[in-house]
Amino acid sequence: MRSHLLNDTTAEHYRRSVADGVGRVAAKLAATRQPFTGVTPDALAPAVDAVDLDRPLGDTGAALDELEELYLRDAVYFHSPRYLAHLNCPVVIPAVVGEAVLSAVNSSLDTWDQSAGGTLIERRLIDWTAERIGLGPAADGVFTSGGTQSNLQALLLARQEASAPELSRLRIFTSECSHFSVQKSATLLGLGPDAVVSVPTDGHKRMQAVALEAELMGCVSEGLVPMAVVATAGTTDFGSIDPLPEIAALAAQYGAWMHVDAAYGCGLLASPTRRHLLDGIERADSVTVDYHKSFFQPVSSSAFLVRDAATLRHATYHADYLNPRRTVAERIPNQVDKSLQTTRRFDALKLWMTLRVMGADGVGRLFDEVCELAAAGWELLDADPRYEVVVRPSLSTLVYRYVPEAGTRPELVDQANLHARKALFASGEAVVAGTTVGGRQYLKFTLLNPETTVGDITAVLDLIAGHAEQFLGENLVHAS
Ligand SMILES: *Cc1c(COP(=O)(O)O)cnc(C)c1O
Repeated sequence: MRSHLLNDTTAEHYRRSVADGVGRVAAKLAATRQPFTGVTPDALAPAVDAVDLDRPLGDTGAALDELEELYLRDAVYFHSPRYLAHLNCPVVIPAVVGEAVLSAVNSSLDTWDQSAGGTLIERRLIDWTAERIGLGPAADGVFTSGGTQSNLQALLLARQEASAPELSRLRIFTSECSHFSVQKSATLLGLGPDAVVSVPTDGHKRMQAVALEAELMGCVSEGLVPMAVVATAGTTDFGSIDPLPEIAALAAQYGAWMHVDAAYGCGLLASPTRRHLLDGIERADSVTVDYHKSFFQPVSSSAFLVRDAATLRHATYHADYLNPRRTVAERIPNQVDKSLQTTRRFDALKLWMTLRVMGADGVGRLFDEVCELAAAGWELLDADPRYEVVVRPSLSTLVYRYVPEAGTRPELVDQANLHARKALFASGEAVVAGTTVGGRQYLKFTLLNPETTVGDITAVLDLIAGHAEQFLGENLVHAS
């Protein structure tokens, strides 16, 4: 069994095994023509359940053969131009090379003595990102597992910075379109059930600054404490960007921590043409960025940034066996002092490889392309009488619904849209997302693949209309 340990004597075995795995994926990518096979959990589960985990195959090739049936054959492939559902991007090759390197070397970024250069590379990327945001000379941050963890850390810092006699008095203000991790974090942080105040959005799904001001005023007049304002730079559904300068001014006026959740919109930081859409982000106290959403990075690759490095102390705890207090005086760079995690992957290497091979403009141009595609998709939808589209996109999502002729019961329209999404998924020809707007069922394209064309969008819209029409045909017949 020692032959499976990666070390000086097994380098050749390692090379062949990884090449075998890479070869299978490469063949799969080359042969895959649609994003999904439409497999159902019921169809796939028996094969997975039948594997006897106590009887190993003993051989990487055999395990990969088995994996072909259990996973690779039916996986959902984000590189497909017709995968248009969630905030998953096709990944860039330099990042995948980074992934292979980082998992083999297996550094852990909690302490310098487990990572060395890895820590310095992560720090450079944090500085690079903070500089692109404009957070100033005292900025700092750390890589995280994702936007959810970054948002939690932001609110932890905000809670610790707020002076309140009791947690139940603290309030967080965020738009009705913000990410659900804000609510989840508030609960994890022990704030009361009413801690998160939902601020209405305007016709473009951006937080209404006037409404925020009214809520802040109301909060203070009731003797409550405005702990944080969470602005979203790229809402998950609409890609809408809250008015950051106005929100920054209000947060400052009311002494609230300003967090910008740019999990999705962070791609604009590298955009050669659209960076201005984030104007005002430089006034944030903290920022969430998800490179695994709009920098074409494999999951996970994400970071949390703060304007003032000193605020990260709220995540600092010392352990004699890991990062004893003296290491601070000795200026040993232990990233665990800033992180909610302990053992932590060297995810930063993926972004490093990407920037060193492609450069920021290269990544940013890819993001620009999908934003342009979304604009073209909006024109299509707006001109198509079969569809109604909610807002003109600021980033790369489109929320829309199939609308049959007037007089169809609203419930039936909801069902037709839901059915179309499910039927499309079952066919595997394309994958789209769903959401609700004003309580009604909508469909969503999240466009993150520069290989997707207007022709793909047109084709998918025709498929959806076909499924919806078939559903309505059947159900109207049954009703009469
Ligand atoms: C995706 C997303 C998150 C959560 O990020 P994860 O990486 O999935 O944890 C937070 N905020 C917004 C706006 C998002 O779109």
